[in-house]
Amino acid sequence: MKLVLLGPPGAGKGTQSVVLAKKYGIPHISTGDILRESVKTGQPLGIKAKEYMDKGELVPDQVVTGIVAERLKSSDTKNGFILDGFPRTIIQAMELDKALKCIESGIDIVVYFATSTDVAIERLTGRRVCKDCGFNYHIKNIPPKKEGICDKCGGVLFQRNDDNEATVRNRLKVYDDQTKPLIDYYNKQGILKKVSGDMSVNELFEVLSKLFKDARVT
Ligand code: AMP
Repeated sequence: MKLVLLGPPGAGKGTQSVVLAKKYGIPHISTGDILRESVKTGQPLGIKAKEYMDKGELVPDQVVTGIVAERLKSSDTKNGFILDGFPRTIIQAMELDKALKCIESGIDIVVYFATSTDVAIERLTGRRVCKDCGFNYHIKNIPPKKEGICDKCGGVLFQRNDDNEATVRNRLKVYDDQTKPLIDYYNKQGILKKVSGDMSVNELFEVLSKLFKDARVT
């Protein structure tokens, strides 16, 4: 199953990707995660990307399309993949189509997580991430047992630089301006399915599992 998850930051794409990747045995490819890892390890890519990420702006298309093209060459993608946070512009979507066409392949389904702005802001500004294992918490919805400490590994929880309210609002604006046109792009290809991103994690997982079963893409 070759899957793209589309939707604003805070829609729950990352959370669903983790469970779907486990269920279907395919890799979860998040450009945000790949970029954050390069920032953490001080790679030249990370140094370049950080200034865009901290402002909530998009990293230039050539940079991210290059990362994804490389990642899709790995053998673990032969049975499919879940793209989370990519593509985010029409140019990225066209490059992805081109890259997949070269290997006589294409995206099976694009799931659009329609999410209200208030829900997205509340989820992002309340998100806390474990610095060691990367597990995501939420101060109200998924609080850790001990404040500031990861239940899974005991690591310290932190707030992402781009999860403060001002940057979150800019990320949502960037989404409206640059990513939303992809809804029409994939609708025209006949592969777009819309779900509500406002549902709980479990509810949405059930809806997605049924959607993939009905579409016979698994
Ligand atoms: P995310 O974790 O998906 O919210 O991404 C965090 C940040 O990484 C975004 O705000 C962008 O600065 C950058 N980023 C991630 N994916 C892309 C992409 N496909 N195109 C451009 N920038 C991206």
